[in-house]
Amino acid sequence: MQDSNSKELGLYVHVPFCSTTCDFCAFYQERPSKKGFEQYFLALEKDFLAHLPEQKFSTVFIGGGTPGLLSALQIKELGKLIKQFGVLPHCEWTVEVAPNEISREKIEAFLEAGINRLSLGVQTLDPVFMKELGRDHNVSRALEAYKLVRNAGFKSVNLDLLFGAPGQQLCDWQDDLRKVVELDPDHLSTYCLTFEEDTALYAKLAKGAISIDPEREAEFYEWAWDYLPRQGFGQYEISNYAKPGMECRHNVNTWEMNDWIGYGPSASSQINRVRRKNFSNIEQWAQALLTEQPLHYEEWTELDNQELARDAILFGLRMNKGVKVNRIAERFAMDQSVFSGIINFLNALVTEGLAEQEGGNYRLTKEGRIRCDAIGSELPELRDQLVAI
Ligand code: SF4
Repeated sequence: MQDSNSKELGLYVHVPFCSTTCDFCAFYQERPSKKGFEQYFLALEKDFLAHLPEQKFSTVFIGGGTPGLLSALQIKELGKLIKQFGVLPHCEWTVEVAPNEISREKIEAFLEAGINRLSLGVQTLDPVFMKELGRDHNVSRALEAYKLVRNAGFKSVNLDLLFGAPGQQLCDWQDDLRKVVELDPDHLSTYCLTFEEDTALYAKLAKGAISIDPEREAEFYEWAWDYLPRQGFGQYEISNYAKPGMECRHNVNTWEMNDWIGYGPSASSQINRVRRKNFSNIEQWAQALLTEQPLHYEEWTELDNQELARDAILFGLRMNKGVKVNRIAERFAMDQSVFSGIINFLNALVTEGLAEQEGGNYRLTKEGRIRCDAIGSELPELRDQLVAI
């Protein structure tokens, strides 16, 4: 199998423990327990040993769940384990933490482990919407946690924000953004609240207690796209903004369809043209690693160049720099004629004012970004084109 031209290799570690379930959350998670942590660390080492890459990792992302639930000692252990399997000297190394789990001791452990980028799950600085989201921290705790991490010496600090909570008006979102800009983080991720099945928020929606308003959400998006760049936060993806040079390399690597390996229950990987997902159950994931040969996964899909190239265009369109179709054709060793269906589709977007094109580079306009999900679902398959020529 030909190598997939990956320049960077990302490492993702999933820490599946959460003390409570946020009202909007549909992710797999476990309540923390002594037995759970022991089982997790035992199987995590096996997971690393079973999936050793040939090259060193250039980015590391520890996400969850709530990685901040790990003790200082466990954080250091995790750092040692990861380093043992090879990280490059200038590796970007992120951990996601909720404000309630921040302490001086843990911050020191993060730094000692090698972590240089911290992502704080603030979600909002509005007490009313914090309650609506069912988070287990409050605004003053979020601000205290930010102060602690801001002064701790991380190279980069990200704040995660959510918008579109029930009852939230544009002026509330504007206030939220003004407040976070004053805090002066290096990076901002702003996500629109989604109503996933089997969540407390979805149950409220189903009962008619709350409603979705796409026009209001579009207004929220557009205000952030306009406001944040004027405050020095360049937008580089639909939901992500950074001070110059502070873009999250780990996420850009995955959006560009380079390789990454995910360790831990429910973690996904894309490596050597295989996309796979570990079991979303700690028992089943650990059992497979401790006893199975060959290993089984919850999902396993072999990808060909057509699928990878199409996904590189799909995710590339979400980024502000856009996509150059001829570069993607070159990268995946494909004839440009195979892309004629996609090029016609992109040219039609230009005619409709949803995209702009310069020197073969296509990028979505504001209107196009609002309709990005619909555009993605209509993007032609490359395989159909192969059959047609
Ligand atoms: S902390 Fe994250 S993973 Fe845990 S319940 Fe909340 S949103 Fe879900």
